Amino acid sequence: MAVTKIFPASAIQEAYALGLRDFGENYVQEFEGKHPLVEGLEGARFHLIGHLQSNKARRAAEMFQVVETVDSVRLARRLEEAARPLEVLLEVKLSEEQAKSGAAPGEIPALIDAVAACPHLRLTGLMTMPPWSDDPEASRPYFRRLRELAERHGLRRLSMGMSHDLEVAIQEGSTEVRVGTALFGARRKA
Ligand SMILES: *Cc1c(COP(=O)(O)O)cnc(C)c1O
Repeated sequence: MAVTKIFPASAIQEAYALGLRDFGENYVQEFEGKHPLVEGLEGARFHLIGHLQSNKARRAAEMFQVVETVDSVRLARRLEEAARPLEVLLEVKLSEEQAKSGAAPGEIPALIDAVAACPHLRLTGLMTMPPWSDDPEASRPYFRRLRELAERHGLRRLSMGMSHDLEVAIQEGSTEVRVGTALFGARRKA
């Protein structure tokens, strides 16, 4: 997946021309500006990979095909209210050091049930973001735990790995690496 946050719509268009079809964006508001310029790209799929506030859920469901950051029952219900077919992944928080977003592993069964009760939502997998480290090996235990958690619940997709640790993520079974910097270069600060 090409992560295009902070980069202009032209980055999406150029990557699309080179054959990429999956794009990750972090902010609903930022993507609102690019969406009119890229929504016509046939076969392109836009994934929301940043934290989603419930009050932006409806707008997110209109623009994205996949929301990878579902981490509460409340958010799942808000996405369902948009009444649009939507693929979702659950964001899992596997460490105390991680940012506040993401559900604890113990909350996953209840979240799976909640999403199953939402006819417009289709749950396909799990997503995680390990604590930052410049040693890619530090991510391995987190990736492994995510895979084990997904296997236990019969979920197939594993969204894990970024520019600096994508090789380790693939070794641990990632089905989807989210790559920004390695494709587009350094971002200016958001
Ligand atoms: C920005 C971001 C990425 C991409 O990070 P790079 O290090 O630039 O590859 C991947 N996943 C999430 C959730 C991000 O916010």
